[in-house]
Amino acid sequence: MDSRDLLDLSLPELASEITAWGEPSFRARQVWEWGWKRLATDFASMTNLSRGLRGRLARAFTIRLPTVAAGQGDEEGTDKVLLTLADGQAVEAVLLREDRRRTVCVSTQVGCPVGCSFCATGGMGYVRDLTAGEIAAQVLHFARVLQCAGEEVTHVVVMGMGEPLFNYDATLRTIRNLNDPQGFALGVRRITVSTVGVVPGILRLAEEGLQVNLAVSLHAPDEDLRRQLVPLGERWPLREVLSAADHYAERTGRRVSYEYVLLREVNDRWEHAHALARLLRGRLAHVNLIPFNPAPGLPYERPEDSRVDAFRRLLIGSGVDVTVRRSRGVRIQAGCGQLRTQQGGSPAASHEADRVV
Ligand code: SF4
Repeated sequence: MDSRDLLDLSLPELASEITAWGEPSFRARQVWEWGWKRLATDFASMTNLSRGLRGRLARAFTIRLPTVAAGQGDEEGTDKVLLTLADGQAVEAVLLREDRRRTVCVSTQVGCPVGCSFCATGGMGYVRDLTAGEIAAQVLHFARVLQCAGEEVTHVVVMGMGEPLFNYDATLRTIRNLNDPQGFALGVRRITVSTVGVVPGILRLAEEGLQVNLAVSLHAPDEDLRRQLVPLGERWPLREVLSAADHYAERTGRRVSYEYVLLREVNDRWEHAHALARLLRGRLAHVNLIPFNPAPGLPYERPEDSRVDAFRRLLIGSGVDVTVRRSRGVRIQAGCGQLRTQQGGSPAASHEADRVV
């Protein structure tokens, strides 16, 4: 437990550790490749390193693998796993297969401090942030699963349990490590970070020099309703969130996705669609409409398909790009707002796994 997780380190950090032992720097690249490209699960398998170096690595570091406590899959190709971390806490991660896409949805926190009223994670409260290694391990878990079928992870969405921009440093470290061309080599444009509107985090992300996709959860077109659904709306009002997202689009040239969970008779009416269109018209924006997936204990219902379609058509007619998110994994409770772990009998996780898939 005391040794450091290899997946927490960047390549330069690993190089500085290994060269301090008197090893040439290319050894660090070899170790990095084993960890991130060849998906090694221990140091003993790194056969192009000397026995002595493997032993030293094993004493200094660990490759911390989460334990799969439970797993479920459905006929559509959605796999959900409950992963137990080294301290016994648990998070869920989801793999979604769609055509040639293999998208992994990862969690960044155990629980979530935001408390959105339509989200099961919100009811659980915040437990702790994940480390970069723990976030990456979720991706690598599914990468190993896919490797057996000759496939690989093509996209990562940071939309699981937690608000990623409240765990900014670990989230960014994971993204940079996944993107490293000598390792996992996942293009940043294939990575999406979702936020409920943490304005300082959006502004900071805009300056990272990365073209990560940004998804902003709006869920309501006016302040009052938004505050009811997303308590963080009290802290960062809509106009500030939109202005930060505009800045992000300007700095990165990337179109921002706006997520909108459709809740029957709450935010799915004609006037909501009009207000949303007014808000987004003319922006470099795309709306993902997500018909609510019922989850136990949440007081909302899913709107009828006809209503979803009317909402969509009104936005299109107003010149706003829109997609209706197809529900995935609903049967295994892996859809939007449905993820739910049972640990000690208490619900632990939920989120928005199918928002951009
Ligand atoms: S929707 Fe996301 S930000 Fe809101 S409570 Fe759930 S996990 Fe947290």
